[in-house]
Amino acid sequence: MFELHGVSKQYGPRFALRDVSLSIAPGRTTALIGPSGAGKSTLLRMLVGLEWPDAGEVVFDGAPLHRKGLLEHRRRIGYVIQEGGLFPHLVAADNAALLARTLGWSRPRIANRLETLAALCQLPEDALERYPAALSGGQRQRVGLIRALMLDPPVLLLDEPLGALDPIIRHALQAQMRGLFERLGKTVVMVTHDLAEAAYLADTLVLLRDGRVVQTGTARELLDAP
Ligand code: ADP
Ligand code: ADP
Repeated sequence: MFELHGVSKQYGPRFALRDVSLSIAPGRTTALIGPSGAGKSTLLRMLVGLEWPDAGEVVFDGAPLHRKGLLEHRRRIGYVIQEGGLFPHLVAADNAALLARTLGWSRPRIANRLETLAALCQLPEDALERYPAALSGGQRQRVGLIRALMLDPPVLLLDEPLGALDPIIRHALQAQMRGLFERLGKTVVMVTHDLAEAAYLADTLVLLRDGRVVQTGTARELLDAP
């Protein structure tokens, strides 16, 4: 689904990514793991089209990503950041509906889709009428997921989706997300610094350190490695 060929990215003298080559399989869940500063978020933002490599190339579905094709690319990507990345001045439903409205979806179509996704993501429907500040962390996260799923994109990119949650809620949401990923059958790439979470949710783990991919494999392969 995605292929990176010799991708490097520098911020000033610092390398966020160094010569990264990687293939991300369609229909599976891939976790980018590694310590803080390893380059995980930078890599994910490149898949979204929010960052561009200084060297190398990102290929999506057989075609190199270009700035010109970015709007089209974004419609095929659902992107979720910590706490959902919601606009504070919009209620949850308006946050989620933003892109669909831009594309001219009718009110009934939007309402219908919101209802379906709220059920799928186990968000109480009255929560859709609340502002982000009046939602719990877990609910904000679900609204972020609903927003990302509105256009039914084939790809879901998640940056520390559960990072801001307390351990009990986090655990419950992990189980829900696993069920959701299985049912949706989308290509999912998630960033986490939690190895257990990665092993639980992902088919393939990609271990980054200092901007390099140091290991790729299933959780079993990585954990059994000498
Ligand atoms: P991770 O997600 O693994 O914590 P990041 O991708 O956020 O790592 O960052 C990788 C490196 O690039 C870090 O050294 C970070 O400080 C640097 N970096 C990331 N984004 C920026 C930016 N916008 N400006 C300057 N440095 C950045
Ligand atoms: P911009 O890129 O300037 O933020 P867009 O029209 O692309 O404007 O997006 C409007 C809002 O929708 C932004 O808040 C953005 O974070 C969110 N958004 C854009 N693309 C996606 C996506 N693929 N998945 C989830 N949210 C998105």
